[in-house]
Order: sequence, then C-alpha cells, then structure tokens
Amino acid sequence: MAKLYFHYSTMNAGKSTILLQASYNYRERGMRTYLITARLDNRAGQAKISSRIGIADLADTFEAGEDLFAKITKRLSEGPCDCIFIDEAQFLEKEQVWQLARAVDDLTVPIMCYGLRVDFQGELFPGSAALLALSDEMREARTICHCGKKASMVVRTDEDGKVLRDGDQVQIGGNETYVSLCRRHWRLAMGKT
Ligand SMILES: [Zn+2]
Repeated sequence: MAKLYFHYSTMNAGKSTILLQASYNYRERGMRTYLITARLDNRAGQAKISSRIGIADLADTFEAGEDLFAKITKRLSEGPCDCIFIDEAQFLEKEQVWQLARAVDDLTVPIMCYGLRVDFQGELFPGSAALLALSDEMREARTICHCGKKASMVVRTDEDGKVLRDGDQVQIGGNETYVSLCRRHWRLAMGKT
C-alpha cells in the first residue's frame, strides 16, 4: 500500500542527506525515483538537492499555485516511478499537500516528504501543518542542541551571530544562518518567558 510520509526535523539535522540516501537505496535496487524540491528563486528548470556532507542529485521543482497531482500524473505517464521524494516540503501549500495525498491514494505511488516542522519564531510552516494532519507516517530526523538535549527549535542569526527575533518566515539569499536549539535554549535566545 502506498503511503504519504513526512520526515520532519529542525535545521541542520541532515534531512537532505536522508532523502538522497533513501533515493539511492531505491535506485540501487533498479527502481526509479522522482525528486522534487521547492523553487524559491526565479531560475526555471532543474534544481539540485544537495546535502552538507557533499552529496547531491538533480531535482524537478514545485512552486506556489502549481497542481502537484497533475505534475505527478504527467511524470507517471512518461515512465515507471517507484517513489517520489519531496524536499523543502515546509513550503508546500495546504492544497498541494491534499494533491499529494490524492496521488498516493489514487495513483498508488509512495511519496516521501522532507521538511522543517517550525520556523524561527516557533510557528508551524503551512506545508508542515498540513503534512502533520494528513500524512500516513511521520518520522523525526534528530539533531542536538549545544547542551546535548534534542533540538526541536531553530533561531535565525545575523552574520555576527546575533539572534534575530523578527522577520519574514522565509528569507532567501541573505547572510543569516540558523542554529538548532532545544526548546529551553530557544526560549532564552528569543526572550520568551
Ligand atoms: Zn539546549
């Protein structure tokens, strides 16, 4: 039975590495995979999913307003596909998560989504909220805070390492970086009592 999977984590937990490894495992057994990631800039065409440990693979892209059921139907009409992998799944729209669920149910293709659970202000991303509601199976990719506890939150810092408490949910191309923390250290960093 095909299922909709959601692998969630905070930043720097290696989710792209896990995605690429899982896709590799399929291909090693002669099966075909279809990789899709979020299109966040103006570049058309193929994108790349790359991991911090140096492995990468080419991927198609999804963007806001796009019908993913139609996209997957088209891909399946072009040839067999055993599993679909979606990176940056936090950027999916709620409607697009329903389209993925429909593809799993009606086209019987497994879909594995990988994404961040919450943003730097501790709010669920829309795609992640829908995936938490609709997916058949969920798994957490873990990483740890500097104190050794499980990191479930993330802070955004500027180039000097100063924690930013405000800003847009998505920022592209800036000099900010992200640090994963446990909830207690996130509260201390964000000034939440
Ligand atoms: Zn901590």
